[in-house]
Amino acid sequence: MDPSRIRQVKPRTEGWNQRKDAEGRPLLQFASPKRGKPPVHLADLTPEERVAKVKELGLPGFRAKQLEKHYFEHRTRDPERMTDLPKEGRAELVAGMLPDLLTEVRRLTTDGGDTIKFLWKLHDGALVESVLMRYPGRITLCVSSQAGCGMNCPFCATGQNGLTRNMSAAEIVDQVVRANEVIEAGELGGKRDDDHSAERVSNIVFMGMGEPLANYKRVMQAVRTMVDKKNGLGMSARGITVSTVGLAPAIRKLTDEDLPVTFALSLHAPDDELRDEMIPVNDRWKVDEVLDAARGYYEKTGRRVSIEYALIKDMNDHPWRADMLADKLLARGKGWVHVNPIPLNPTPGSVWDASTPAAQREFVRILNDRGIPTTIRDTRGKEIDGACGQLVVTEEDERAAVSA
Ligand code: SAH
Repeated sequence: MDPSRIRQVKPRTEGWNQRKDAEGRPLLQFASPKRGKPPVHLADLTPEERVAKVKELGLPGFRAKQLEKHYFEHRTRDPERMTDLPKEGRAELVAGMLPDLLTEVRRLTTDGGDTIKFLWKLHDGALVESVLMRYPGRITLCVSSQAGCGMNCPFCATGQNGLTRNMSAAEIVDQVVRANEVIEAGELGGKRDDDHSAERVSNIVFMGMGEPLANYKRVMQAVRTMVDKKNGLGMSARGITVSTVGLAPAIRKLTDEDLPVTFALSLHAPDDELRDEMIPVNDRWKVDEVLDAARGYYEKTGRRVSIEYALIKDMNDHPWRADMLADKLLARGKGWVHVNPIPLNPTPGSVWDASTPAAQREFVRILNDRGIPTTIRDTRGKEIDGACGQLVVTEEDERAAVSA
């Protein structure tokens, strides 16, 4: 059939309610608005800087190691439990090195307790969310890297409020430590026995609020702390997924870090004509450039790249687009990539629908037939607005935060 005769829903005319610039284009915010900085925390510092800071506080450097053990391993922030530290000055040391960063405002649970969405208040009142999910054999935490987001994608709820600010490295890491605390307390469902002391978050996805590569330095510091076996959380890099809207220069920079994390690219359209409308940063870095950068990541790290593709009814789910996507991926080789379509999750005010099951199946079939491994992403937390693209601060959240 002539592709031009297939219905084409346009992002621009339907449902676009993000902030716009003078020309009516969605406003992109790369720079973080200036706000009071969160207190400096152990997880913002390199191991050497931690030792220096402890000495500054008038204590021998080895106290830094003890604090690391309490925080990362024992998930303890309570000075009362740190009995290996001298009682004299202990509270001041802990306040100076492990200041409180996240205040829990609210917790929503679904999937019989297997999924928990947390709403956190930061020191300046900014609000962020993280989502904790138990799967057979792994526990995944979806973390936020910014309060809000400046990338303005029309189908994603987070962009609707713009960017509040970058999160610090420690604010990112603390989401993991706090989740580990909750797991240890037996508060995540689906447990098999009563001993949770060995259980912790095994996988991280940077798919919460924010564009991780727009907060590059702090996200890298957070990732390094997550994978540091000696002075950090000791997680495996391949269990950490960094997902980006496609900031090509930052992807190339990430390629040169010695950090074999899993890399995911939110492509959502294989053609610039549509991607320009769906992903406003496509104005700067086009489909071919981001795909080249993604391929470069694979070449350097050997890690298979993941392509995210939110399937939206009659917008980007046409069979010809599946073929065009296959063409563009295969033009860059075989075996380097897999495609992870996800039926669109509803967001407030959105007029778009997820693709029909038949359209989803057809899209997946075409890619698989072309030799590109493609699996629909299992989503969690839709009922609690905790699924991909649904994280946004609501008026109800703001009200709850006032009393928290
Ligand atoms: N800024 C990063 C991470 C954000 S969210 C990025 O763009 O990759 C993680 C994934 O959820 C992205 O692929 C994003 O495009 C997708 N997403 C956003 N809104 C969605 C929605 N309403 N339904 C399904 N997926 C969505």
